[in-house]
Amino acid sequence: MSTPIRAKKQFGQNFLKDPWIQQKIIEAMPDSPHRGVEIGPGLGDLTKELLKKRPMVVIEIDSDLCVRLRSDFSHEIDSGRLTLIEADVLCLWGRSGSLQAEPYDLVANLPYYIATEIILRAMRDRQCRSLLVMIQKEVAQKFTARPGDRAFSPLAILAESIGTVRRVIDVPPEAFDPAPKVDSAVIAITKERPTYDEAFAQFLRRAFTQPRKQLLKNLQPHQSRDELAYHFEALGLDPRIRPHEMTTDTFLALHMRLKG
Ligand code: SAM
Repeated sequence: MSTPIRAKKQFGQNFLKDPWIQQKIIEAMPDSPHRGVEIGPGLGDLTKELLKKRPMVVIEIDSDLCVRLRSDFSHEIDSGRLTLIEADVLCLWGRSGSLQAEPYDLVANLPYYIATEIILRAMRDRQCRSLLVMIQKEVAQKFTARPGDRAFSPLAILAESIGTVRRVIDVPPEAFDPAPKVDSAVIAITKERPTYDEAFAQFLRRAFTQPRKQLLKNLQPHQSRDELAYHFEALGLDPRIRPHEMTTDTFLALHMRLKG
């Protein structure tokens, strides 16, 4: 029997123990021929289920967990069905911009302290074709918000600019051991475009400098008022519109006009 492992807070370790939620994640996996990549396999409970579906690459930062995973999954590792990489996933991305040389689907119960950063990297990674991730519910709301919602933000717009975003399931703290202090949710992003335009991301950061202010005012330090007024009128936009009231398509159209 394996020795008990104590969850390490600094690595955001909350192990998903509810088999029903694990199955909901498996059912939501896209139907694709690509390899699966799991960030943070932890004790390997979800990994075991994922391996029934397809070959997996898993990336784990915690060396104690890696020792245990190497022992528990020795057959799968020997057969090549599972590849275990002991590393900080952000460093792996730092080196090449891509986690894999081939297309892959990302599935993960993410460490919450770097969840947003991981999702943004995966959305930029050209080889990543889809994301199915458990994150803090508050962060999930930011990615799945619709125009007009107060939570509508650059994260939702960037996600929608590359594909479709949906909320799969809400998950209560009791589904984990140890239980986190926050509610969680699983979201899925299916890419229709391989990556987003970094200039568009920068434009959105400027547009949302003060989210409750008028969009025109947020953009004025970067563009002349006359130029902005001209393009707002051409797109039929109310000059008093606030950033969260725009749609992804109007943001894309405005960005094209202002950069062109
Ligand atoms: N997948 C497991 C589950 O569902 O029970 C564990 C999920 S736990 C929320 C997050 C996992 O990510 C932990 O195993 C943790 O050690 C790992 N992790 C944290 N930071 C990481 C990093 N920078 N790179 C790779 N793995 C990381």
